[in-house]
Amino acid sequence: MMEAVMNQYHYYLDLSVRLAKARNKNYLAEFLTEQRNVLDRCFGGEDYVLATYYIPNELFVPFDLPVIYSDRIAGFGAACNLLKEEEWKKSDQYTSRCSYQIYLNSMLKKKILPLPKLIVASNYPCNSAYQFCKELSETYQIPFLDLKVKRQESTEAYQDHVKQMEQIFQYLKDHFSVKKSIQSVVNISNQMILIKKEIDDIRNQYLGIIDTQDMLNIFTLYNDFGKESSVEALQMLRDDLHSKTENYSWKPGVKKLMWLGTTPLCMSLIDKIEEQYACKFVCEDLFLFCAKEIHFDTFCQDLVKRIMDSIFFTEEKRVFKTMEIAKRYQVDGIVHYSQRICKFLPPMFPKIQKAFSDIRIPAIELCGDGIERASWDKNYKEQIETMMRILCEDKKIEC
Ligand code: SF4
Repeated sequence: MMEAVMNQYHYYLDLSVRLAKARNKNYLAEFLTEQRNVLDRCFGGEDYVLATYYIPNELFVPFDLPVIYSDRIAGFGAACNLLKEEEWKKSDQYTSRCSYQIYLNSMLKKKILPLPKLIVASNYPCNSAYQFCKELSETYQIPFLDLKVKRQESTEAYQDHVKQMEQIFQYLKDHFSVKKSIQSVVNISNQMILIKKEIDDIRNQYLGIIDTQDMLNIFTLYNDFGKESSVEALQMLRDDLHSKTENYSWKPGVKKLMWLGTTPLCMSLIDKIEEQYACKFVCEDLFLFCAKEIHFDTFCQDLVKRIMDSIFFTEEKRVFKTMEIAKRYQVDGIVHYSQRICKFLPPMFPKIQKAFSDIRIPAIELCGDGIERASWDKNYKEQIETMMRILCEDKKIEC
């Protein structure tokens, strides 16, 4: 079973890498190659860590520990079709779990993914993911470390988070041998931050120059900070954007939209929207990850500051940040993609919609699922068309 799965994701990933190269998207090819390398190690039986999204990879790189991030592996498994729908859906008794959790649970239950050596989870940004990981640790008797984040910007909360982060790091030092100096991991991480800033400068100057699908495809690079291969992927992306700037210009009459929320299973939806409705996405909030440098002497403190400065840390922060960008870019409309049964971003949508409607920017919500093919809100065409009509009437521009 395991060998068949390995063959399947190898096949899929080799295909994706070749396709990315053929389309001159070397940054995507590099990113996918690294994902394949990590999976090779985990599926091949090496000790690995299962973690939730904001647990920083810099904690594990010094020990050369491969890390599987819970949502990423589920999304990846679904994209590779590792489990048939009837296999993963029927195997879970919980109806309140999101499809990402159900999918990962099935992969472990069916033993197509070996059990992790350690689980490290945070309730930020998703308490549901945290609970799910805790249940996994209890079911399979896997050591569990946690970072319980308080959504408060207080000194007390910060100190508490630092203490927990230090405890996690100490556990790793006590149980695994150091293979790489922390200073080198810090340097690589900071290098990535500098390159990301350069990318953002280009994106700010040349709105829409980066492909929205690419941003959504590689936003989880945030989970690969501190790794050399990720520096290369970001460098390639920056160089690619640089090379496009000379001939790039915004097409007159094309509406500027902002993509918020998560990623659909079928990414071509984004291209379809852009092609059919004379619009272009100029930004998406998953790619707005916090760019804070870290230092050797204040390693854990800096990692905590990065989490607390991230865009989703409080609802107010997210609304403020997205509104600031929308105004700066003069965005015409917002498309919020909401994952079904997700406890993280969809509950924030009403606040986003209200804030934008106060400044006369329409915001629509598309509902779907990043894992389940059949589950898709068929009204998306109608919703987009309604929004585009509003945009055209409002600005008195011919569509
Ligand atoms: S509830 Fe949402 S954020 Fe949490 S694990 Fe599921 S999809 Fe991810």
